[in-house]
Amino acid sequence: MADASNVAGHLEWQDARIEAIERLSPLVRRVVLRPTVWHRPLAGQHLSIRLTADDGYQAQRSYSLLSPPELEGLYELGIERLSDGEVSPWFHDAAQVGDSVEILGPVGLHFVWRPEDEQPALLIGSGSGVVPLLAMAAHHAHSRSTSPMVLVVAVRTMVDVMLWPELQRWEEHGKGFHSRLALSRDIAAPRTQDRIGRLNEADLAVALQRLGDRAAASAAVYVCGSNSFVESVTTMLRALRVPDGAVRTERFGG
Ligand SMILES: Cc1cc2nc3c(=O)[nH]c(=O)nc-3n(C[C@H](O)[C@H](O)[C@H](O)COP(=O)(O)OP(=O)(O)OC[C@H]3O[C@@H](n4cnc5c(N)ncnc54)[C@H](O)[C@@H]3O)c2cc1C
Repeated sequence: MADASNVAGHLEWQDARIEAIERLSPLVRRVVLRPTVWHRPLAGQHLSIRLTADDGYQAQRSYSLLSPPELEGLYELGIERLSDGEVSPWFHDAAQVGDSVEILGPVGLHFVWRPEDEQPALLIGSGSGVVPLLAMAAHHAHSRSTSPMVLVVAVRTMVDVMLWPELQRWEEHGKGFHSRLALSRDIAAPRTQDRIGRLNEADLAVALQRLGDRAAASAAVYVCGSNSFVESVTTMLRALRVPDGAVRTERFGG
């Protein structure tokens, strides 16, 4: 394994060995991959994954990196099981430690957070759309950045919140990171800043206020999830007078 950061080679397919498969939430598995050649990612980037069946049939999908750039030599993914899907159920039901998959990347330069940007950042995700935002939050925790960052997690219940212990630990670091949960189907919120109910405009207004007085005009906003989630959040952000140009989106389908 070599760290081949900043070379063009990450646009070539290579094999990666599955090192571990663990439960992140009832629907999402953490899949840890060890590539032959490791390229240091930017927080928010994704890999292309290609599976080939015995008869030669191939399927290719994109998966965001859950792991921050600081995790040397490995790539971690957070893959949600879609029961009628082709690729995601394979990672849940069939993949074994020691299996190989083909990967390309890390790729994507638009939906990335860099510590040197020094802008307040608002991260808003739902379901597996929280995965790349967790990589950004972990990178914030590991970097020297003290710029304010608020992560808004919209999921059904507490058991769907990925990396809950880490979220609390990063908040305790006092480096400007803050998280808020919107739990659409739970009965109690774990902290005062969390809420029961679907994510709404008032939640986003509070999250922006947490970033500072003029955050609506100055923050970089990252939104990730299903098409319908991204549509509804971008509409709310527009109503809150967040400029379109400040909002970066990543759509996972659905
Ligand atoms: C840049 C990028 C990053 C992504 N990162 C992640 C990630 O970190 N984790 C992750 O779990 N997925 C991620 N995805 C989605 C992933 O690429 C696949 O689309 C997803 O796993 C479904 O693939 P499948 O083969 O299991 O289902 P398919 O066989 O492709 O689809 C099965 C059915 O599910 C529907 N569907 C497809 N995607 C979704 C969705 N996201 N939600 C609801 N319904 C859907 C389809 O319309 C179809 O009806 C990402 C997508 C993109 C474009």
